[in-house]
Amino acid sequence: MNEALSYVHPSPASAWDTYLSQVDRVAPYLGPLARWVETLKRPKRALIVDVPIEMDDGSIAHFEGYRVQHSLSRGPGKGGVRFHPNVTLEEVMALAAWMTVKCAAVNLPFGGAKGGIRLDPKKLSIKELERVTRRYTSEIGLVIGPHSDILAPDVNTNPQIMAWIMDTYSMNTGSTATGVVTGKPVYLGGSLGRVKATGRGVFACGREAARRLGLNLQGARVAVQGFGNVGSVAAELFAQHGASIVAVQDHTGTIHNPKGLDMPKLLEYVQTSAEHGVAGFAQAERMADEDFWGVACDILVPAALEGQVTAARAQKIRARLVLEGANGPTVPEADDVLQERGVLVVPDVICNAGGVTVSYFEWVQDFSSFFWTEDEINQRLEQIMMNALSQIWNKADQHKITLRTATYAVSCERILTARQARGLYP
Ligand code: GLU
Repeated sequence: MNEALSYVHPSPASAWDTYLSQVDRVAPYLGPLARWVETLKRPKRALIVDVPIEMDDGSIAHFEGYRVQHSLSRGPGKGGVRFHPNVTLEEVMALAAWMTVKCAAVNLPFGGAKGGIRLDPKKLSIKELERVTRRYTSEIGLVIGPHSDILAPDVNTNPQIMAWIMDTYSMNTGSTATGVVTGKPVYLGGSLGRVKATGRGVFACGREAARRLGLNLQGARVAVQGFGNVGSVAAELFAQHGASIVAVQDHTGTIHNPKGLDMPKLLEYVQTSAEHGVAGFAQAERMADEDFWGVACDILVPAALEGQVTAARAQKIRARLVLEGANGPTVPEADDVLQERGVLVVPDVICNAGGVTVSYFEWVQDFSSFFWTEDEINQRLEQIMMNALSQIWNKADQHKITLRTATYAVSCERILTARQARGLYP
């Protein structure tokens, strides 16, 4: 009997619900492997940990942390760690599941995992952040490791936090284990090209999708939601290839300039402004946040958080192409609206796979202690992403399905073939 997971009480548009509906949509295309599809609808393992730390003022604070391993069928777990005040078990379950699908989409020898701590990093000092990271790493130490589950950056986590994770795990196990985490600083076993890899992959998918649509990047208008590691890099690359970035929205507000924002100046402004955000950038107009969705543009890049593109917002979108830099930005009802309106969506599970692809390169380089040049990394990244996208496109054409369902079809076939061959134990 396959009952719904009893420890999850999804809200109407939860990320986990979105994921389950995406899996349901692929089932008809899996042939005899559909027998195994239920295994994708529950995480293999989910760990909830209490993370107590001493705050700078001497008080003791408790944070809730998670590490979910959704699937280990194709290899060790792989996925980032998110620090955010809204992190929940259910969200981390969805993010872990999307990692499974993503790693299989680009054919990396990994399963899928994700972690998170419910906290607002802006409210912690750097020392408190270090303590919370180290204690969290110790608490999940039972399930992570270079051969079992490899962590990485995600929303609000960065190379310094990866260095603390690597050090804590290494201290606890008694030897330096660089391969337990990717996205580390380059001088500590990190890989060249990792920081920009996700944005670079989003751009590469966008360039290829635009080519297939007959949309010229020269002069194309691009709107970007989220100006962190993914959105800002993708925007920069689009601008370098002749596109105009006409609107940017982040946690501080929405800015708009129909003539195109000056990217080098905006990037510099965001680094130096007090809130590290786009609001207040002089060479642009402020815009109401909700109006962002109706901006006149050719390409829209949601690169913030999940659940942003709702059915109502999908009705307003004027772009021909949506590139999902974020994980899970589009809810299933919005997918339907976009499809009906002829808007092409390149889904997260391929579009933002550049990050984990270079994480894989980092992991391989750590094991061989032999490091590649940035050119080699960028070339291999491009090759893997373009190869995967073309397989997905063929699948979509073959069955006349969306790129999302086609990506799930390619990925789930790989995951479930491995699962079937391994068999059930005992
Ligand atoms: N957090 C990134 C993602 O969602 C990267 C994960 C990784 O490199 O393992 O894809």
